[in-house]
Amino acid sequence: MKNFDWIIIGAGITGSALSYELAKQGLKVLLLEKDPNYDNATRYSYGGIAYWSGTDDVSIKLCQESRQIHHHLSEELGENTEFRELDLMLTIPVDKDPQTIAKNYQKFFVQPQLLTPQESTDIEPLLNPNAISGCLKLPHGHIHPQKTNNAYLHAFLRLGGTIQYEEVTQVLSQNQTITGIKTNKEKYYSKNVVICAGGLTRSLLKTLGITLNIYFTHSQLILTPTVDISLKSLVMPAILNRLDIEEQSGDSEFKSLWNRPSDEIISDVMEPGAIQFLDGRFCLGQISQIRTNPQAKIDSHLAEKTIRQRVGKILPALQDLPGELHHCLVAFCPDSNFLVGKIDSLTGLHLFSGFTSTFVFAPPLARRFAGWVIEDYQKMPSLL
Ligand SMILES: Cc1cc2nc3c(=O)[nH]c(=O)nc-3n(C[C@H](O)[C@H](O)[C@H](O)COP(=O)(O)OP(=O)(O)OC[C@H]3O[C@@H](n4cnc5c(N)ncnc54)[C@H](O)[C@@H]3O)c2cc1C
Repeated sequence: MKNFDWIIIGAGITGSALSYELAKQGLKVLLLEKDPNYDNATRYSYGGIAYWSGTDDVSIKLCQESRQIHHHLSEELGENTEFRELDLMLTIPVDKDPQTIAKNYQKFFVQPQLLTPQESTDIEPLLNPNAISGCLKLPHGHIHPQKTNNAYLHAFLRLGGTIQYEEVTQVLSQNQTITGIKTNKEKYYSKNVVICAGGLTRSLLKTLGITLNIYFTHSQLILTPTVDISLKSLVMPAILNRLDIEEQSGDSEFKSLWNRPSDEIISDVMEPGAIQFLDGRFCLGQISQIRTNPQAKIDSHLAEKTIRQRVGKILPALQDLPGELHHCLVAFCPDSNFLVGKIDSLTGLHLFSGFTSTFVFAPPLARRFAGWVIEDYQKMPSLL
């Protein structure tokens, strides 16, 4: 009962999608999740799918595959992911030149439409036209992140998969070869382990003495109950400072700081954004902080005040909605869209984490990963 073909660590969207795809290939899979409440990045996500964000042949192909998968996912998994297509409205601050900001988007394979403040409010009436010099509009996909995660998990269970709510405390190996894992309760055995632990992936790798360019931000957001206001689009800033801090945090001068137990490496970033789910609830975000300690203390009062003020400038009707602050860790890789593949220095260890635009890239890559396992393991990328 304790031997499996594959063991997956972490049941956020990355681990759930991958477990499902491996089980679909007839493999005996164990998925381990430490938190029965799923208090993770997937739960607190906007759920946006940036199909437009491919910049090279591989990422463009993955974006196209992702669109196909999301279109049919509810049917395939037998549960509604609440997939829809909606406008992404990227707001340009009033003191910035819209043409200059638009140029930053030339690298993507779908080009945004540049709108004046008036055109922007025609599409999204909740926007404050005095706070923006315009918007970039892009065709975006959207799913309910938690429902999509649950749909993957339930389909995985129906395929005979096993989920245990236990924390992985050790990855077991012998002669540089994986033999299984140890949790706070049990030992489980497998020749293949995949780390899908989101913001804690870095810590798990560290216990194995493996250093890869994968880091995490502390993210804060507000979730509201169902309210009687209607937001038509997903609103985010056109200037994503988070991507800048993520890039900087991988610079060689910062890398050594990541090994210190509790450092603030770069100043915090607040990106006012909002999405309304189909049940009328809002997610308002988002603060990103780089702290090397995953358990770093967060000033919830200040975070809530900052989010409300900054979102309120762009979307005044949302400033005082009832709602609660939440916090999670979000993994990222400064110099790639994801870390997916095998770690050759420890045979049987794999990584499926660190995604930018996780809801775009994780579903098609989970499918490809399972394909490599079944058809041609040699083709799976090597990470070390
Ligand atoms: C406000 C906000 C908005 C966002 N909007 C978008 C968006 O629109 N589009 C998009 O693509 N992305 C978005 N993201 C990012 C996206 O949510 C994350 O990239 C994605 O959910 C990460 O999934 P994951 O599976 O890697 O990590 P997680 O969802 O964090 O899951 C990792 C899981 O691993 C478990 N785990 C960790 N360590 C262990 C262990 N030792 N043993 C057992 N279990 C363990 C954790 O408990 C956790 O459940 C957003 C994030 C935030 C915060």
